[in-house]
Amino acid sequence: MFNKTWTDQENLKIADESAPDSRKQTSGLRSLDSEYLDIRDSIPTGLKLVREYEEARELILKVLGGTREDWNSYRWQLKNRVSDVEVLKDIIHLSENETREIKVTGRQYRWSVSPYYLSLMDPEDSNCPVRLQAIPSIKEYMGEPGLEYPINLGNQAYPPLVVRLYPDRLIIKLTNMCSMFCRHCQRKRDIDSRDVIHPMSRIKEAIEYVRENDEVRDVLLTGGDALALSDDQLDYILTELGNIPHVEIKRLGSRMPCVMPQRITPELCEILSKHDPVYLNTQFNHPRGDR
Ligand code: SF4
Repeated sequence: MFNKTWTDQENLKIADESAPDSRKQTSGLRSLDSEYLDIRDSIPTGLKLVREYEEARELILKVLGGTREDWNSYRWQLKNRVSDVEVLKDIIHLSENETREIKVTGRQYRWSVSPYYLSLMDPEDSNCPVRLQAIPSIKEYMGEPGLEYPINLGNQAYPPLVVRLYPDRLIIKLTNMCSMFCRHCQRKRDIDSRDVIHPMSRIKEAIEYVRENDEVRDVLLTGGDALALSDDQLDYILTELGNIPHVEIKRLGSRMPCVMPQRITPELCEILSKHDPVYLNTQFNHPRGDR
């Protein structure tokens, strides 16, 4: 409770004293983003690029041997993720040097791109912002290895799929599968050479851990990408979590709305709507990839 009535004058005085610092901070933050702000209005957005995207889609379907119907199927998109540089060369322009560098970097860090996300790239521009998120760069291989991702440190005494750093929330890693392996992923050192959806027995073990710990109110289902699981698997997991009274927030970590939107089917939406509220954490990193 306030035991003092603040006058307008006192408020103005405080605002005035804090104003110079706040202006300085704002201008500091703005300068960090100045390169983007300078060209923001000239960046073509997805809607202006529809014709280019359509041409790319036709080329990719020809290279991969698919139909328009296939294109709209997330199963086809998943099955046809491109991870072979010789196939990639038929879709976007790669110099001999770039081809060699992708092979070298790809041996260390797995890569794979959905046909859909490939269709958003400028095929001629090696600095295309969509391409930079998806195609390996030699800088990943040559760069400083950096620090270990902190959640890999130590032996956690939790069930194998549980990652817990905070008292009230935790992660359940359902899979290592992604619709695309983003070059900026902080977990890329953990990505195995083959796709795995963890056995339901392991997932049940993680749910049981949540049930037994009533301080956990927020569960993030992720991986990899949570939407790599089937509708039935997601429905089961969300039902189980929904039956735990202390779980207030259920979240799905997925980049599929951006890199494989075909996964957002009416059936999936129906399932998610049954478990309301469910939050979906995703990332769109550039207007070119935002259709
Ligand atoms: S979709 Fe997410 S988990 Fe998968 S590679 Fe990209 S950032 Fe990493």
